[in-house]
Amino acid sequence: LLIPSSSRASSYRFASSERRKISKVLVANRGEISIRVFRACSELGIRSVAVYSEQDKMHMFRQKADESYLIGAGLEPVAAYLNIPEIIHVAKNNGVDAIHPGYGFLSERSDFAEACERAGIKLIGPRSKTVKQMGDKVAARQAAIAAGVPVVPGTENPITTVAEAKEFVAQHGLPVIFKAAFGGGGRGMRVVRDPDELEENFQRATSEALAAFGNGSMFLEKFIERPRHIEVQILGDSAGNVVHLYERDCSVQRRHQKVVELAPAPRLPVEVRDRITTDAVNLMKYVQYENAGTVEFLLDDKGNHHFIEVNARLQVEHTVTEEVTGIDLVQAQIKIAEGQTLPELGLNQNNIELRGAAIQCRVTTEDPALNFQPDSGRLEVFRSGEGMGIRLDGAATFAGAIISPYYDSLLCKIIAHSHDLPAASAKMSRALREFRVRGVKTNIPFLLNVLDHEKFQDGTIDTYFIDENPSLFQ
Ligand code: ADP
Repeated sequence: LLIPSSSRASSYRFASSERRKISKVLVANRGEISIRVFRACSELGIRSVAVYSEQDKMHMFRQKADESYLIGAGLEPVAAYLNIPEIIHVAKNNGVDAIHPGYGFLSERSDFAEACERAGIKLIGPRSKTVKQMGDKVAARQAAIAAGVPVVPGTENPITTVAEAKEFVAQHGLPVIFKAAFGGGGRGMRVVRDPDELEENFQRATSEALAAFGNGSMFLEKFIERPRHIEVQILGDSAGNVVHLYERDCSVQRRHQKVVELAPAPRLPVEVRDRITTDAVNLMKYVQYENAGTVEFLLDDKGNHHFIEVNARLQVEHTVTEEVTGIDLVQAQIKIAEGQTLPELGLNQNNIELRGAAIQCRVTTEDPALNFQPDSGRLEVFRSGEGMGIRLDGAATFAGAIISPYYDSLLCKIIAHSHDLPAASAKMSRALREFRVRGVKTNIPFLLNVLDHEKFQDGTIDTYFIDENPSLFQ
């Protein structure tokens, strides 16, 4: 255990052994992912605790926990969920053993992981040193190289001058992409195709990264044309065992952000899948990864894969992996945090199997006709698509719910599972057509256009798909 000596007394319970029974979990998040974790806790007989901001006082997610506590009084809506001392305080005052960070907010903050460790509260996620290493994309690339995993050609260290960028371009050619070392969520990236635009983009990317992530550190990568985004779900335990749960294809992206995700990746040759999953496992073994994580790759049009980053947390799209493997990832996370090993959980690589295909659509309260401008207000009508093979992970999904303008615009995730991709796709379209949402605009018409598109149905999409098909917006 990584507990500093100064806090040994408070963490006495845990310090003697890696084993601990978790009996009360706080979710340091909001909305659908909080409910997702509360459900897993409930099924495991674990008490659940919600924290909520003033703006979320009436939000349904807090009712789904056994207990809930207001945080961030007087703070801005997002800042409430980033207030580490207060969240730790609520946890300690209420007998919480473990905190689940969800995704976004504090989930990739190593100072939060450290604060939990200091307080003797188990973070349901990787160790703080791993969160730190993977949160820095330059350090993550270095780990991948050391583990023998192919990376996109890029600068070895952060670059601080335009001269370094020019030198990289002289060696590797254009196009290139500037990336924020501490970036995420598709932000802080700039593609450069013209040598005259290098300097301006470098300055802009640096100041954007500084504003968005509090750190302007930049690196350069060769920009890969027409890649597919393929990522591998991993579970690791405290004993050093690592397994993969196959891959997801997240190539349907708008502005580098995922919209529709699939498991498994369509038309992926078996030998390519083997190479990618083996490399993902090797990297996570190398960094002694504990808990759930994802290794992301770009697959170029020649079938070569290149590491881009590790997400050291549960991902929005974990659901499709759950559907095709039958493994509840959140429950697995909790049991791993209790110190159970993968073999004890029956998770051996040779018995993790793929069954059929699954698709997830992110339904957002955004208007596709108005360049995806977020919409908010009261849901006057809400009827969802249901039936065999359809799963809904949401929060404010009922008539009368108020969609707040303060947080991200995800309304719910719809997941379809069937024996193959066309069957899952037919189920998804059918379910989306059953939806009736009034009062707030959604991207459902856009999602239907994606599913109906022949390239999607053929399984031949790359990350350019949305940009190249303006008809999807109609
Ligand atoms: P973030 O952490 O912000 O999500 P990623 O590094 O995961 O950023 O990249 C997000 C997406 O941006 C990728 O899925 C891909 O579509 C695009 N991208 C990132 N790096 C490259 C690259 N070197 N070449 C081409 N596309 C890239």
